[in-house]
Amino acid sequence: MEIAIIAHDGMKADMVQFLNEHKAFLRSENISLIATGTTGSKAEHAGFKVTKMLSGPMGGDAQIAARVAEGKCNMVLFFKDPLAKHPHEPDINMLIRVCDVHNVPLATNEATAKLLLKAIAI
Ligand code: PGA
Repeated sequence: MEIAIIAHDGMKADMVQFLNEHKAFLRSENISLIATGTTGSKAEHAGFKVTKMLSGPMGGDAQIAARVAEGKCNMVLFFKDPLAKHPHEPDINMLIRVCDVHNVPLATNEATAKLLLKAIAI
């Protein structure tokens, strides 16, 4: 199962903490993580194996959306910062739309991400 992780700058520390809290599951061999560039680097630094896309503002969210559309990515955990402006807002909205079009689980905050992982973890 391929899970995408994305965190806006103000949420990256929360994302790393979340990854560490779910380390055992997220490092299991049937899970592969992909991420936008900077989020992926933070996750790697925390010891996770991640396939990195471009940084979000450079098209990373769009790359993840393409993988969702192609049926390659099965879940998106997106720690959005609702209090910040983002130059790539169109890409973010596109990713959300593509998840809805393809009925792919998408969390846009940590509470939902926790519930999604709880739902798929044994
Ligand atoms: P980043 O991108 O992980 O490269 O910072 C996240 C985003 O802003 O969408």
